[in-house]
Amino acid sequence: MEFEYWWLLALPLFFTLGWLAARIDIKQLLSESSALPAAYFKGLNFLISDQHDKAIEAFIEAVQANADSLELHFALGSLFRRRGEVDRAIHLHLNLLERKELPQPQRLAIMAELAQDYLKAGLLDRAEELFRSLDDSRYQQPALRALLEIYVREREWERAIEIATELERVSGVPFRKEIAQYYCEMAVKSILDNDYPTARSKLEKALDANTNCTRANVMLGEMEAANGHHEAAISIWKRIEYQQPDYLGLIAAKMLTSYRLLGRVHDGMALLKNYLQTYQTTSLLSVVYEVVLQEEGPENAAILARNELAKKPSLQTLDQLLQARTLLDKAETQDMHLMQQAVRNAIGNRTAYYCSQCGFRARHYHWQCPACNSWESFPPDARETPP
Ligand SMILES: [Zn+2]
Repeated sequence: MEFEYWWLLALPLFFTLGWLAARIDIKQLLSESSALPAAYFKGLNFLISDQHDKAIEAFIEAVQANADSLELHFALGSLFRRRGEVDRAIHLHLNLLERKELPQPQRLAIMAELAQDYLKAGLLDRAEELFRSLDDSRYQQPALRALLEIYVREREWERAIEIATELERVSGVPFRKEIAQYYCEMAVKSILDNDYPTARSKLEKALDANTNCTRANVMLGEMEAANGHHEAAISIWKRIEYQQPDYLGLIAAKMLTSYRLLGRVHDGMALLKNYLQTYQTTSLLSVVYEVVLQEEGPENAAILARNELAKKPSLQTLDQLLQARTLLDKAETQDMHLMQQAVRNAIGNRTAYYCSQCGFRARHYHWQCPACNSWESFPPDARETPP
């Protein structure tokens, strides 16, 4: 078989081609990495060392050296936003949008950034409009979350329910607790307008959305009690035990008032004592202590406080024990009084509710945290010390 000599020529040629290809690749890589201006790395360094003003200067320099890089602009814009210089962020993103022949994905990316600027600036109408226009894009989920934030902030509950339902559908994350709370907020408004039938229907919708929504039952009971239907109120409030028994303390005093108005204060007391024995919450204890003191006298109240104090040391319970003892032992009254005063001083304004999400401290119970806007984030028992 004859050897084909042209192979001898072809081999070096392939080597040369391979070598050229490699060189071109390396050249391209080098040019790409040098495309990131030194100012960019300088900016990163400043960011890491928390020198935000200098980081902004460096990023501005990087953007000027590399006017085509959208990512650099976004980095600078988000830095402006984080620093609270929202007008500069808006200006930057609006300028980008004015560029001609922007491909659609880039236009959408700029709009998503601009919408965040408007949200941060509190220009909610403009933010809403932009987020709405991102509904079909890959920014859909963050846009829906931002829209939800806007509607909750503006207390537009109907729209909030609509968006939360949509968000639940596209993200698979449940929003039942929030949706039920939005219905409760609508009911609060109807009650203020004296429109009880609408309030009732909203609260029923809240329970449809989340069978564990204790707030709906608290409010349904309050409505019945306000209209003098105390039997109905009590039977609604009793449902809370099967939802979240920790919340019984929130309505224990009201339940007792309804029992009292029905002339059945002892039934109420028996029920609450039973709850206290089963669930051991401090808010239940203070209601039970008060009614025992009133109905059975200081001796039984002292026994109750002493038993509870043995189970769980607490200044509040000690205060109750001292109070009952003051009423009981006339001879030692003066000492008891002083001791109680000291305990009261120690407690001061210390008992408070603490948000489980952000730690915010509040004197009154909130269904929505005033600081971080989480729903049902306050445990229903006030505490003497932060958790
Ligand atoms: Zn909070």
